[in-house]
Amino acid sequence: MKTALVIGGSRGIGRAIALKLAGSGFDIWLTYHSNEVAAKEVQSEIEALGRSCEIMGFDVSDYEATRAALEEKCDKQAPDVLVFNSGIVRDNLMVWMTKDEWDAVLDTNLGGFYNVTKSVLFPMLREKRGRIVAISSTAGQIGQAGQVNYSASKAGLIGAVKALAREVGKKNIFVNVVAPGVIETDMTADLPAKEIKPLIPLNKFGVVEDVAATVDFLCSDAQSYIHGQVIGVNGGLAI
Ligand code: NDP
Repeated sequence: MKTALVIGGSRGIGRAIALKLAGSGFDIWLTYHSNEVAAKEVQSEIEALGRSCEIMGFDVSDYEATRAALEEKCDKQAPDVLVFNSGIVRDNLMVWMTKDEWDAVLDTNLGGFYNVTKSVLFPMLREKRGRIVAISSTAGQIGQAGQVNYSASKAGLIGAVKALAREVGKKNIFVNVVAPGVIETDMTADLPAKEIKPLIPLNKFGVVEDVAATVDFLCSDAQSYIHGQVIGVNGGLAI
């Protein structure tokens, strides 16, 4: 049975990815930060699909905690898929941005990728197979005012994935980025929709299933030649 490790799978996009991959036959290892109730709900939904789901709570920005949760587990059984989806925003104009706002976003969104991937990569290399998908953002491709920290973290993910793809492609490990635009989740619930939608060529926000379907495709046997790429799911926001 194939296993997918979904980082930040308790809510929003990560939840939809976990459910979609479970529907495609993966057993799920699902992580969350603090919302155990939400994680348990997703666990039940996945079990109702006939797949197993193990939940783990830890802070991806904490290297020791992340390694403690994942290192031994992944060494025993390399997951077939890693989706690095967890992410936070701490928006502010750069002129007002605090060091804490900068550090929290970089440590979680980019540092978290290092902390998680360190546990997964060696076992995947040993097995000579794996699919890694990192969830970046349109902000990482074109920049977003009020999000210098977030845009930097998401652009950093793109650089990291491109370099990693060059390192591990020969070992049959696929590494790609999915970069969503504005997707309806808790993260975007307070955005002024009336002002933002006209900036999007499709004139609407995306739904979590749009992103989940793309991740599912990248992790499926239907594709064996997309590698080191950034796939936008953004209604045309970045063209
Ligand atoms: P949500 O805020 O709805 O969910 C975030 C998920 O990440 C939750 O599962 C949360 O766990 C987990 N998480 C957050 N911080 C940490 C941490 N420090 N350690 C471990 N897990 C953590 O976000 P979205 O679903 O909206 O976004 C998912 C990803 O997609 C993010 O990386 C985001 O940047 C990116 N994205 C989102 C867009 C959007 O429009 N929504 C657009 C572009 C990119 P818990 O439930 O325990 O808090």
